[in-house]
Amino acid sequence: MQKEAKLLYAQPVIEKQVEVLKDECKSLKSKGITPCLKVILVGNNPGSVIYTNSKKKFAEKIGANCEIINLDESTGEEEFLKVVNEFNNDDLVHGILIQLPLPKSLSQIDTTDLVVPHKDVDGFHYENVAKLYRGQLGETSMIPCTPKGIVTMAKYYGIDFAGKNVVIVGRSLIVGKPLSLLLSNLNATVTLAHSKTQNLKDLTKTADIIVTAIGSPKLFTKEYFRDDNSQIIFDVGINRSEDGKLCGDCDFANIKDQVAAITPVPKGVGPMTIFSVSQNLISAAKK
Ligand code: NAP
Repeated sequence: MQKEAKLLYAQPVIEKQVEVLKDECKSLKSKGITPCLKVILVGNNPGSVIYTNSKKKFAEKIGANCEIINLDESTGEEEFLKVVNEFNNDDLVHGILIQLPLPKSLSQIDTTDLVVPHKDVDGFHYENVAKLYRGQLGETSMIPCTPKGIVTMAKYYGIDFAGKNVVIVGRSLIVGKPLSLLLSNLNATVTLAHSKTQNLKDLTKTADIIVTAIGSPKLFTKEYFRDDNSQIIFDVGINRSEDGKLCGDCDFANIKDQVAAITPVPKGVGPMTIFSVSQNLISAAKK
């Protein structure tokens, strides 16, 4: 008999963990260190404005300082780099985040190594990527926020990746690729699928855990999953459906009765990403 999937919400995970972050922040403050995050936002892309505000709100919730530096859309390369370097050299700044995408005037800049590795709360710097690649991760490592959030969430819900067949669909530098390394370090058997993957439906059916991160509203329907309530799905996609509502890459209503568990969109993986930013900030301040 089919049963409804367990819904993996971010809220209980965050509620539990936020106290830890608050305590860590308090302890740092008692030593004269107030964790400080600078978020550099160029232009007014509506999605970026929402994301930066959420990051600021959460950082402040745990007691950290966070400032959004909103530069004009027309800002040139020299001025932009000056701002980043000022924060790189400021000992009172512990975390720097460059909100992507950058506007056209700056889109030629490779941001990968602009932020010094120990302030790189996004975990995008070559040095941090190399540590992830080599599996040299410690408690204060800068790990990309969405992959880190998925692992935090899985831990809370008792989902162990070790020995599991995990299919990740989407190989972006911010989600799919770093997640494949992270889960491989956690002893999962990882397959990283993408737009050129053949027979994707057969592949996803063989997995224990599927992560969808492609940015295509409701693409993953019943046909992509087994019908035995055994598979676990992390839906990373954040899209607008035809009715204007937010939706994931999975057709939630269509599949929820045939899988074991799934992250809803919204309220699933998204808030975990915001949470991970603050986690990385505390790690950076500890360093
Ligand atoms: P991206 O850079 O847009 O890349 C999309 C990836 O999906 C590519 O690897 C692409 O393959 C693959 N792909 C596209 N269509 C496909 C298809 N029909 N079948 C199989 N693979 C396909 O991805 P992203 O930046 O990671 O974003 C993906 C989604 O996650 C978006 O909806 C984004 O808004 C969301 N997101 C959410 C969070 C969160 O916190 N929840 C964080 C980041 C992103 P190729 O490489 O072959 O082109």
